[in-house]
Amino acid sequence: LGRKLTEAVGSFTKSNVVDDKVLDGLLKEISTALLASDVNVKLVANLRKTIKAKVNLKDQPATVNKKKLIQKTLYDELVALVDPQVEPFKPKKNKSNIIMFVGLQGSGKTTTCTKLARYYEARGFKVGLVCADTFRAGAFDQLKQNAAKAGIPYFGSYTETDPVIVAQQGVTTFRKKRFEIIIVDTSGRHSQERELFDEMSQIQAAIKPDQTIMVLDSTIGQSAEMQAKAFKETANFGAIIVSKTDGTAAGGGAISAVAATGTPIAFMGTGEHLTDLEKFDPQRFVGRLLGMGDVQGLFEHVQNMKLENKDTMKHIQEGIFTVRDLRDQLTNIMKMGPLSKMAGMIPGLGQMTQGLDDEDGAMKLKRMLFICDSMNAAELDSDGKIFIEQPTRMTRIARGSGTSVREVEDVLTQHRVMAGMAKNMSKMKKSGAMGGPGG
Ligand code: GDP
Ligand code: MG
Repeated sequence: LGRKLTEAVGSFTKSNVVDDKVLDGLLKEISTALLASDVNVKLVANLRKTIKAKVNLKDQPATVNKKKLIQKTLYDELVALVDPQVEPFKPKKNKSNIIMFVGLQGSGKTTTCTKLARYYEARGFKVGLVCADTFRAGAFDQLKQNAAKAGIPYFGSYTETDPVIVAQQGVTTFRKKRFEIIIVDTSGRHSQERELFDEMSQIQAAIKPDQTIMVLDSTIGQSAEMQAKAFKETANFGAIIVSKTDGTAAGGGAISAVAATGTPIAFMGTGEHLTDLEKFDPQRFVGRLLGMGDVQGLFEHVQNMKLENKDTMKHIQEGIFTVRDLRDQLTNIMKMGPLSKMAGMIPGLGQMTQGLDDEDGAMKLKRMLFICDSMNAAELDSDGKIFIEQPTRMTRIARGSGTSVREVEDVLTQHRVMAGMAKNMSKMKKSGAMGGPGG
């Protein structure tokens, strides 16, 4: 989805005239991309209508920058699709907050509830896990293993076959010990859908969760909407966690699920490991879709890792991005790895390392760093124009770094993309199209 949207927006950005025909063309391409990635047909039609009405080209005075207006409207409307403006759940202090997981078998519940447990534990909460999946043999062992790995206390039973009783016992046990967050995992599987939903309602009635979360597999495509609707009717969940977003998922199903249920996405699962859980941020999600790259996400990641990044942050906010900033970013990425995960966050870099496996991609990055290391201070602190004015610099650098002029050009192209981004971000921040720093 991301690539097709990026292309559509890219060719739109390049066109010189902005009239209804160009707008229609853009909207058509965007609609096609959204439909192809499983966003609901009605939703796409509505989006198209809304954007057209809001932009309202013929009534705009000549002084208005129409291109900007269209881009901002598109961005805002896409954000609105995945942001139902619901206050996110916050566990309350001095009580046992009960969180119940629902979702189909295989959607990623057991994995995700351990990730969430770990997430809250890292933020100072006392967290316990309850396995109320008595349907599948081995379910308790799976949760036990995950929980032990994360160092989270768990509760379950090998003998009790009634999930309602196990859920209740687990909650009571942890509550007595004053656990602050109690997460209850359920089975999501029955021979009959009716039975599954009955069981879900019974568990819910017994433990009265403060928050019910539906785990939605991002790879299921069009059926996401129906599934989310059905679960919403029975379990009235308050949040969605979209799992397996690290795969080749088109991602449109999740958008439809949010729109159909008016329920926010709280987190995204980005891998099989316990730390592969990301807070969902609508603006960042759409930015990534539109090919603006997840620059903000990358910076957060860098801050979490406590790497040196202060100058770059300050620069970006001022709309500056030097070759040295690029070099620092590349160094950070090398430290953070694996490349496949990080490259998509950097505008332009995803394309440059596309089709390469992690090892070859890392090699490519290393060569980019060699190139930067062969530059002198004036070159590193420049905006890159110095190389266009004096191309022999590129030859010198290629020789010094044991690479080719072509590769040096690649580095400079990458720099240009990111410098352009930094400029846009600082402009958008100023015009209020994006939230403040970090948000
Ligand atoms: P449940 O039946 O709903 O409890 O699903 P599980 O938690 O057992 O997960 C089913 C499979 O999906 C397992 O093999 C998990 O490792 C895998 N899985 C869950 N979340 C993710 C994710 O975010 N990314 C990837 N790649 N795999 C995941
Ligand atoms: Mg499970």
